[in-house]
Amino acid sequence: MANASILEIEKKFEMGVYPKRDISLVRGRGSLVWDADGKEYVDFTSGIGIAILGHAHPKIAEAVSRQAATLLTCNESFGNDERAKLLERLASLWQSATSTSGKVFLCNSGTEAIEAAIKLARAKTGRKGLVAAMNAFHGRSTGSLALTFKPKYRERFEPLIGPVARVRYNDVESLRAAVNADTAAVFLEVIQGEGGIRPATAEYLKAAREICTQAGALLVIDEIQTGCARTGKFFAFEHYGIAPDACTLAKGLGGGVPIGALIAREEACAFKPLEHGSTFGGNPLVCASANAALDAMDAEHILAQARENGEWLMGRLRSLSSRHPCIIEVRGQGLMLALELKVESKPILQAAQANGLLVLSAGEMVVRLLPPLNTPRPVFEKALSILDSVLP
Ligand SMILES: *Cc1c(COP(=O)(O)O)cnc(C)c1O
Repeated sequence: MANASILEIEKKFEMGVYPKRDISLVRGRGSLVWDADGKEYVDFTSGIGIAILGHAHPKIAEAVSRQAATLLTCNESFGNDERAKLLERLASLWQSATSTSGKVFLCNSGTEAIEAAIKLARAKTGRKGLVAAMNAFHGRSTGSLALTFKPKYRERFEPLIGPVARVRYNDVESLRAAVNADTAAVFLEVIQGEGGIRPATAEYLKAAREICTQAGALLVIDEIQTGCARTGKFFAFEHYGIAPDACTLAKGLGGGVPIGALIAREEACAFKPLEHGSTFGGNPLVCASANAALDAMDAEHILAQARENGEWLMGRLRSLSSRHPCIIEVRGQGLMLALELKVESKPILQAAQANGLLVLSAGEMVVRLLPPLNTPRPVFEKALSILDSVLP
């Protein structure tokens, strides 16, 4: 099937919530993907930060097909070898990042991890209030949507759960004023992703930690986009020397398959049996894929690659900005980078795509780059030369 006929079917039968580009992707390998008409692209979207190790990684492909032929499903009322391995691993990553012991709830997406965090915070504190930042994105189901900032995502679905206090990001006083004796949890991204790749300042996250501790509220860090080595540490909060009470993971965690996780400090784990759960959560297929991805991350020194490639790419983007006055700022960390422009990003995305490079936006004037963390240098060079040719 050709690009156009695939899209025609999707347009006809999907509910129309996704604005579509005019190509259909049918194959990938490493940092490259191919459309249905056979055209090759450098993929700096990673499916929105999902394919941290690129597409069709042989170790992940092998683990998924092996597990599919072994045991696809096993609900949480039974133990499972792949699940046990993943739980132990996530708890150990949490332990080394926070020096506290942690426990894990496995689910199937980012928004579900946030839902679990909201319930956990209410169960732990017996309070209702939630605090989130302006320009935050935490998901689109009716719990997490209450924390997501963009009014156009929320308005037609209100009333959502609350009360939710919205604070200015990176503004300590705004946070201090919003947190009180009814606050169950404060939700923050370390780098606001959908909000335009805006990093938190160190003072802000440190103050958030103190404010939450004093008020007896949980500090929940949403690592759904920043986590899993994207910024050069497994959890982005590790750059800041703080330990949250809980954090959420999803996008990169499964190496491409749908998965989410809530990890929390042991003392914050207040769920009683059956107060929360998920039919597909912790299924052997996604756990095997996540285990293979975590193995490959170690074997390929992915943390170092994300840091080194990130610093190198940041430098190259900065030199690009000296040639293109439409670039106002280059920001981000590791391989979560963005160009803030004086012009709209959409035509740049389209021109890049026409020239063989897929990139994302993050707001109207921001081009967002989320390349696979193990992208080879020649592929980075190719992407840079395409950006150079399409930026005004
Ligand atoms: C993508 C994202 C979510 C939502 O994840 P879904 O899997 O789409 O539900 C939540 N928070 C952040 C920071 C994200 O980037």
